[in-house]
Amino acid sequence: MNNFSIAIHGGAGTLVKGMMTAELEAAYTLGLKLALEAGYSVLENGGTSINAVEKAVTILEDSHLFNAGKGAVFTADETHEMDAAIMDGKTLNAGAVSLITGIKNPISLAKDVMEKSEHVFLAGEGAMQFAKMNDYTIEDTSYFYDELRHKQWLEIKDTDSFQLDHSTKKDSKFGTVGAVACDTKGNIAAATSTGGMTNKKFGRVGDSPMIGAGNYANNKTCAISCTGSGEFFIRGVVAYDVACLMEHKDLSLEVAANEVIHKRILEIGGDGGLIAVDKNGNIAMPFNTEGMYRAFKTSNGKEEISIYK
Ligand code: ASP
Repeated sequence: MNNFSIAIHGGAGTLVKGMMTAELEAAYTLGLKLALEAGYSVLENGGTSINAVEKAVTILEDSHLFNAGKGAVFTADETHEMDAAIMDGKTLNAGAVSLITGIKNPISLAKDVMEKSEHVFLAGEGAMQFAKMNDYTIEDTSYFYDELRHKQWLEIKDTDSFQLDHSTKKDSKFGTVGAVACDTKGNIAAATSTGGMTNKKFGRVGDSPMIGAGNYANNKTCAISCTGSGEFFIRGVVAYDVACLMEHKDLSLEVAANEVIHKRILEIGGDGGLIAVDKNGNIAMPFNTEGMYRAFKTSNGKEEISIYK
């Protein structure tokens, strides 16, 4: 049996240390723990990495603390437009959705695109049509409402700014969510889900649903889920870049992931982080921001839940 492991993140845009209360820190830690345990128990029971990452991400989506599903940030039109992607490292099958509204668990819709359609990426109205065809309930906007997110939006609405996923801002309570896992058979998978950026407009799509940018999995190399300034992560093709460094330069997971987050993405002006796993269950979780909500658990007894460096 292969070593198995799972890593999750709740975004690299953490509250700056001074703004974090003990109560909030406990809530984030609990949110991460619930998702981690749920994903890990899928693996422990012999389940696949793809089911484990879906499970962990749905739990993060169901928590209002993280910017995905419930608690997603507001767009310029005071709506929620969500993006998600999932990829299976064994088959290289992938599914992604973008600009969807009213879907409680975007990651499950992405998985259905992978499993029940001939396509990889569905967006906007078409993705919504596909959801309805597959009997998804369309939730009312009130389901996604979070008071703090609304306050963040009120502060910048009617301006041209949209809030990047920086941890340097006082109030940057953002965060895409994601999970990567390696199962007992050594198959790996990645899942990422996000509300994107506060006050986004023009149908803006970030890196999260783009295969190779914010999410990627290939048994040959690694499974990756990213969080950070999406425009830069798209241009850096970050998730695939880590896989390429491993494949073509023969770098280890950790060295490749560090090279991308601490060097290559910084060189083009991006900030954020990623979680990564390889087929031996090794994990890396580099970030170049002040913090990243993150956790991992392995079958050889290692476990960690942390927020700051
Ligand atoms: N990368 C996400 C996006 O650009 C944001 C985030 O990670 O918080 O949509």
